[in-house]
Amino acid sequence: MTTVTNLGFPRIGAKRELKRALEAYWSGESSAQSLQDTARALRARHWQLQREAGVDVPPSNDFSLYDQVLDAAFLFDAIPARYRALADADPLAGYFALARGVQRDGHDLHALEMTKWFDTNYHYLVPELQAGQGFALRGDKPLAEYREARALGIQTRPVLLGPVSFLLLSKTVDGSPALDLLDALLPVYVELLGALKDAGAEWVQLDEPLLVQDLDETARAAYVHAYATLATAPRPKVLLATYFGALDDNLPLAASLPVDGLHVDLVRAPEQLDAVIKALPAGRVLSAGLVNGRNIWRTHLDNALVLARYAHGHLGNRLWLSPSCSLLHSPVDLALETRLDDELRGWLAFARQKLQELRLLADAIDGAAHAEAGLAEARARIESRRQSPRVHKPAVAARLAALTPADAQRHSRYPQRHLAQAAALKLPRFPTTTIGSFPQTLEVREARARNKSGKLSDADYDAFLATQTEHCVRVQEQIGLDVLVHGEFERNDMVEYFGEQLDGFAFTRSGWVQSYGSRCVKPPVIYGDVTRPQPMTVRWSQYAQSLTDRPMKGMLTGPVTVLQWSFVRDDQSRAATCRQIALALRDEVLDLEAAGIGVIQIDEPAIREGLPLRRAQWREYLDWAVEAFRISASGVRDSTQIHTHMCYSEFNDIIHSVAAMDADVISIETSRSRMELLDAFVRFQYPNEIGPGVYDIHSPRVPDKEEMLALLRKAAEVLRPEQIWVNPDCGLKTRGWKETRAALDALVAAARQLREESADANAA
Ligand code: GLN
Ligand code: ZN
Repeated sequence: MTTVTNLGFPRIGAKRELKRALEAYWSGESSAQSLQDTARALRARHWQLQREAGVDVPPSNDFSLYDQVLDAAFLFDAIPARYRALADADPLAGYFALARGVQRDGHDLHALEMTKWFDTNYHYLVPELQAGQGFALRGDKPLAEYREARALGIQTRPVLLGPVSFLLLSKTVDGSPALDLLDALLPVYVELLGALKDAGAEWVQLDEPLLVQDLDETARAAYVHAYATLATAPRPKVLLATYFGALDDNLPLAASLPVDGLHVDLVRAPEQLDAVIKALPAGRVLSAGLVNGRNIWRTHLDNALVLARYAHGHLGNRLWLSPSCSLLHSPVDLALETRLDDELRGWLAFARQKLQELRLLADAIDGAAHAEAGLAEARARIESRRQSPRVHKPAVAARLAALTPADAQRHSRYPQRHLAQAAALKLPRFPTTTIGSFPQTLEVREARARNKSGKLSDADYDAFLATQTEHCVRVQEQIGLDVLVHGEFERNDMVEYFGEQLDGFAFTRSGWVQSYGSRCVKPPVIYGDVTRPQPMTVRWSQYAQSLTDRPMKGMLTGPVTVLQWSFVRDDQSRAATCRQIALALRDEVLDLEAAGIGVIQIDEPAIREGLPLRRAQWREYLDWAVEAFRISASGVRDSTQIHTHMCYSEFNDIIHSVAAMDADVISIETSRSRMELLDAFVRFQYPNEIGPGVYDIHSPRVPDKEEMLALLRKAAEVLRPEQIWVNPDCGLKTRGWKETRAALDALVAAARQLREESADANAA
């Protein structure tokens, strides 16, 4: 019998039960006991569900109340000193303090830093380590969860983050190399593995996703040393799990480590199968990741079966079938999607369905009589998708084919455009603007919810939005901003708002995936060729412009960001899908221009997070990402000013591509780092205009004029004065009106003072 295993299951619950339980506990509405009860019930349900779907060995310790990396840090007692007293007194409170910070009962602790988990949309907490620190086992989470499953009659494979990945994903507060701590850490793994063996675990899974990234010699040596050390003591058999890409040059290393099995990602990197089989030492298990753990499409089972049969031919029972990575990145159960039409639903598979697909593959290998019917049904679904006119639209293909390099090129170069825009817009030096959204008050969110549930008519909702927009325009005029925005009150989310108006997008009811902690996102599903049936933003922008003589900035979400924050179709390249979105946005940009909007911002906050895990693949990605942005932006006249916005920090390694986007103006986040981010722009001599944020919108703090002036002076030291815009770090939707007003008053005052100073300097 061919074995089916799983690397990890979504823990939030099909109906986000864990989210509710966490938030009730945090707000004091429910007890720690009731949170733990919910958690235990979810684990039991998920083990049961996996067994019923046909998984022979489900994972344990893949559950987490907040984050699996935080769990590892906590388990190894890698707890920074500031949290220690609390963690000793109340472990659960200490754990959540690391995750979220605390500000009560005399505690004032900020949370650990959070960052993206490889190239997924999941965020993990970055353990904070220190040279010379020790590690010890704190609590027994992996053992307890293993026993919990055993008590239900289910043999599981405990999952642990491997020691080298754990250290490489951490940061040290003193800048010392985290790998220096390896020898201090390994005894804790030895102890834990021994305890798991004593408890009856046959296998453990050590996740080492760092093996699919570029590694230096020190890291490679750490792998050799770590796994040699772990092999010297009694332990369960070890499955070394790699995912999110090919092992490539790390394959000889991974194959040489003394473990009992290797998991590889054959969805991202099917081409590595043959090399992996050849490199695998005799007797080792190969866990073949054949079903995509991070997307929502039905697997092309015939293709997967070719790989599986090939591997089976070489390995026989030493072949296990698994998802490519943990199913953490998939929604739980397609059965809840009762509102999707049957055809579309037939194209999808969520976590539960993915496990059923693996069982079917295993049964097909084993020659089970029923398998052929299952494969035939899957084949029919794939075929219906392949032929569906909802997916493939000749007009879109024709338009894509007709694209020429000129379509991704503004008519003139920036210096000439700058003159045309100066004449058209007549802006003062150091022009002021905002990033788009204004406070999304409870009133705004309630009106949207009431409209959605049918309690507020479309006409009344429209009238409400018009009032909000007008108020927002008047406030901006009073504050004295130069380039205004309409406020984005009509938008729920910057991707969803566009997806809902474009063809080729679908929305699920319960397709939640964890973003971090209790936060989940429900990404749109891009299933078909993208078209724009009608203008999406023109009406509100035009209305807002009609209220004022000042320039009104149109506001769009860029093609790369729409792509990055959606579930993307897998039957064509991401580049092709991105180009389709770009063309739809290009039409929107042109419609805005025709409607009299002379400044248009195309937000691309997600460009950086799309970077491939291996440097060698960056170039290709950046090329098509930049091209897509340019396609969306390049149809306009010279005098129309294109802005873009990115809300992050690190530009050093992508600055050439950011410049190649050729936006007339870019706004970026800089206030928290006190303008450090500008380094990249300065060293590179960024040619166009730039608005380094001077107001940290993530904090309720209101900076005063002097503080913003200080930041602007820093910027003015390194940038040409005619390059500088004055704006906040990001949109204001999470802020209240009072602080927004106060901060923007100060911002405008700071810009005015800078203008006077530079006029004096010119006169002198
Ligand atoms: N225009 C958007 C806003 O202001 C930009 C949001 C973002 O950068 N994430 O809300
Ligand atoms: Zn932003």
